[in-house]
Parts: sequence; C-alpha cells; structure tokens
Amino acid sequence: VQRSDVNYFGAGPAPLPTVVLEKASQALLNYQDKGLGLCEISHRSPEANAILAETKQALSDLLEIPDDYDILFLQSGGSGEFSAVVYNLVAIWVEKKRAKIAEEVGDNKEEILKRLRKVVDEELKVDYLVTGCWSLKASQEAARLIGAKHVNVAADARKANDGKFGKIPSEDQWSLTPRSAGGPAFVYFCDNETVDGVEFPSFPKSLEGEDAPIVVADMSSNFISRKVDVKKYGVIFGGAQKNIGNAGITIAILKKSLLPPQSPYASPELLRELNLPVGPIVLDYPTIAKNNSLYNTLPIFDVWVAGQVMKALVNSYGAKRISSQEEISDEKANLIYGVLDKYTDVYRVVPDKSVRSRMNICFRVAGGDADKEKAFLAGAEKKGLLGLKGHRSVGGIRASNYNAVSLDGAKLLASYLEEYAKSI
Ligand code: PLP
Repeated sequence: VQRSDVNYFGAGPAPLPTVVLEKASQALLNYQDKGLGLCEISHRSPEANAILAETKQALSDLLEIPDDYDILFLQSGGSGEFSAVVYNLVAIWVEKKRAKIAEEVGDNKEEILKRLRKVVDEELKVDYLVTGCWSLKASQEAARLIGAKHVNVAADARKANDGKFGKIPSEDQWSLTPRSAGGPAFVYFCDNETVDGVEFPSFPKSLEGEDAPIVVADMSSNFISRKVDVKKYGVIFGGAQKNIGNAGITIAILKKSLLPPQSPYASPELLRELNLPVGPIVLDYPTIAKNNSLYNTLPIFDVWVAGQVMKALVNSYGAKRISSQEEISDEKANLIYGVLDKYTDVYRVVPDKSVRSRMNICFRVAGGDADKEKAFLAGAEKKGLLGLKGHRSVGGIRASNYNAVSLDGAKLLASYLEEYAKSI
C-alpha cells in the first residue's frame, strides 16, 4: 500500500505532509551534509539553535503572535500542560496576594503567612469551562494538585444535555469567579474537544475586558487551523501531534507578562508552607523561557518537523497567513457535514450544530447500530479511508479533518458517505 492510496482521518497522531516526511528521512540520515542526522546532533549546536529560531518565527508569522509573547517548547504533551498551568499560574496568584499582604503588614513573616493561609483557603479559585473529556481531565488534574474546593467548574456542558457532552452552555449560565472578588487565578477552556467534536465558535465574550482574567486555552486539536487573537490569551498550548508535527513536543504561547520580573512567582518554600504543590522544574515556565526551551535536552528533530510544516503553510499562504488554512478547513468540514445533514435518516451528527468542530467530525450511523457502524467502517477501509472509528469512550464515527487531510481526501470521504447512505 502506498501513502497515496490512503486517506487517514485518525485523531492523532495524524498525517504529515508527504514532502515534509521525505525531507525528514534525509534529515535523519544526513542533515545539511554534515554526515550526521538531526537526532544525533546536540540540541545546543548552531544548527539546533537555527531550527528553534526558524520554527518560532514560522509560528509567529502564521498566528501573528505579538512581540509581548514567548513561544516555549516542552515535552510533556498536552496533558503535561494540564499540570503546568496550575503550578505556574497559582504561583503567580499566591505571590501577588503575598505582596499585597506584605504592603499592609510590613516585614512580619508570621503575620504574612497567617493571613496568606486564610486568603488561599478562602479565595484561591481556578475556573474551568468543562465542555468535553479533555477539559474535564484538565479540571480533574487541577483538583488533584490543589484540591477540589479550589476548582470552580464555571460551566459543565453535560448538565443541560442529558449528562452528555455536545453543547456549550450559553455564557449567561456560566458561574465564573467574580472579578469583584479578585477573580480566579485563571480561566481554562479547551478550544476544540477532540473526543466529543465540540469547538468554541469564537472567543467567549465574558472573558474579555480590561480586568479580564488570565485565559488558558488548550488548542491541541485545532492549533493553526484558524485565526486566533493571541492577545486575548495568557497561555495557548497544544501537543504537536495533530495539526503541527509528530508526537514529542508541546508548544506553549505564553504572554511575557506572566514571567518574572513582571509576574514574580511564589517561592517553593512559601508554596510548601501553604500546602500548595511545587511543580517539576521541566514544567516551570520561567525556567523554560529563560533557557530558550533548552533547559534540558529538547528533541530538535521534532521541532524541525513542526517548523517545516509551519514554513510550508507560511510559504503557501504568504500574506494571507492562517486565513487561507481556515478557509480550507471550513471547506472540508462543510463538505462532510453537508452530506451528513443531507441524510439525516442515516447519519446523526453528535454535537449541537452551533458548536460543531471543524476538526473532529463526530457522528453516528443508523442510530448507533453496532453492526451497521462496523460495516460502515469496513466499507470505508476498502476505499483507503482509514482511522474513522470514534474514541473508545464514546464510540461511533469520528472523521478528523486536520490540516494535512487534503481537500481531495475530504471529497473522497464525502462521496463515500453519500454512497453508503444510498446503499442502506
Ligand atoms: N488536549 C486535547 C484537546 C487532546 O486532544 C489531547 C490528546 O488527544 C490532549 C490534550 C492530551 O495530549 P497528550 O496526549 O499530548 O498529553
């Protein structure tokens, strides 16, 4: 079987452009005629530094990232960021409170600690919009680290939807920690829920404004697929393995004001005194930023692959940047949803129309009949349409429409959907 015979719609790891893979095989053997491959050279070599700089530049060009943002490369996956945002942003929150108390009581360490304990106990909140299984997991990690009482689930999409994900509650139903009460340490949401096929149509209005909280967004499965107003976010993160590259690196776009000296972090000693967790050094944003993501060995080959994918996008779209990718993503998604909506007696799209993901198209065949869904998948496989099985936790069918899925691939899937619907 050749690559060209197959269209893969798996949710990640996902396909990469063939041209990048061809270049990658050469880079693994002999990078830039050095006689060594990219996995064999130091992450501190001039070559590695150039790769790092070029990849950052390509991402900045694509997403028009403002100068007051930093780009970090980490290795702990999207899941690692579930923890990292809590460690880092809670440390900032605590230090802010400590400094304020110190202003009031002076250098009295015991008094500061006493008051700070009370403030942490009563006021520390992190807000989560739970709209699918990944934001749920992130909120559970926050509860594991700092205690459930400090985690405010400001919206739970299952509540008004029979206990299932598939909708985003309207903003007037959210119970964000009030700004008047100092607000939360951050508000977290997952921009695209990979398993449930739910995507935020746009940036939430209630997270905007002058005294807006720090906003954290998981963009693992819709990174560089549409225009993003980066300045509305404190942290945007995503694993590379869906829309950007291969598994191995996680990218975090971080507002520089969330780093020292603008945002000092509470010391490990203070956090211990307060029974708050001290994060591992490899998740410590100030350490990673200070070291240009080279605090420890960075898999530079993975960074190179991501850079090649992004550079290819920058080159093909030029001044239009990400808007062109957004148009193509929309076109492919509309093509597939179009057929699903045409044959509603055969197919049922799982999420509500208002929040349908452009990236992970989740649907049921014949009301979720197990045999029919099996037959649907077998028929697809015969045509080289692979990776369509839904996540094991929800079942059904999921067509992931990441950047490397071609328009022709989407057309083939659409025509199979049509053919199958007519055949039963
Ligand atoms: N967030 C989202 C939206 C995901 O889809 C995934 C994985 O599929 C993760 C986080 C977890 O990523 P990782 O497996 O890199 O930890």
